[in-house]
Amino acid sequence: MNFIVLTIFPELFKAFWENGIMRRAIENKTIRAQALNIRDHAKGRHHVTDDRPFGGGCGMVFKPEPLAGAVKQAKQTSPCAPVIVLSPQGRPFDQDTAMALAAEDDLILVCGRYEGIDERFCEQFADIEISIGDYVLTGGELPAMVVMDSVTRLIPGTLGNEDSAAQDSFSESRLDHAHYTRPALFEERTVPGVLMSGHHEMIAQWRMADSLMRTLVKRPDLLAGSSLSDKEIQLLDKWRFEIERIIKQQRLRGTNPSSGG
Ligand code: SAM
Repeated sequence: MNFIVLTIFPELFKAFWENGIMRRAIENKTIRAQALNIRDHAKGRHHVTDDRPFGGGCGMVFKPEPLAGAVKQAKQTSPCAPVIVLSPQGRPFDQDTAMALAAEDDLILVCGRYEGIDERFCEQFADIEISIGDYVLTGGELPAMVVMDSVTRLIPGTLGNEDSAAQDSFSESRLDHAHYTRPALFEERTVPGVLMSGHHEMIAQWRMADSLMRTLVKRPDLLAGSSLSDKEIQLLDKWRFEIERIIKQQRLRGTNPSSGG
């Protein structure tokens, strides 16, 4: 995978690419990454990349020509790369999109600034607009890092343990199970015994159940949109029975103050 980031702040990416998994992926040649300075394509002595908005109003607008120049430079080495414009108005970024992008050979990521980018640039050059969430940042650099990070860890050979990405949250529409490490006792809290039993099948079953329970409690929307295995349906049925039994007992005891009993 070859990431080409178009930005007016290329130095922001230095620490990102020089540490952790990104650094290892670059050293292993699993990915390549470079930042092109959009300002290099801005005309005039001061290489100005923004201008006042037509129609008036506050803020400045990213000029289209320097962005177009930077995309054309990127396309010289990566002619088939999709151009991703980071924008709060884009398609919400999720694990499925990360997986689809991980299958590409090259990606061009365009980081906006100011009040946004001249619309004609987006019409002409953007293949996808991506948003990392319903909030507004000052620039597209952090969103570009989010995209690169999540895509990189899905590329085979990037993570130490090949299974880790497959077990992560949102793979198969489930949240990841809980994780524990040494010490076995921390602030009087223990680790579920089964995880220290050495019984691989029971551990796998516990993890599957914990993953299902977390998804049910924290993100039921994920379950609603996915198909459940027979084992998962059995577990949900068992839990439903247990929950109904507890509610019934409470009602019979009349201990719930809000029940009016
Ligand atoms: N005026 C624009 C709007 O309300 O849609 C916001 C512009 S924002 C201040 C400047 C740049 O930050 C955008 O062009 C985009 O590249 C980036 N950005 C801000 N929030 C983002 C988000 N949630 N996802 C992706 N990019 C974002």
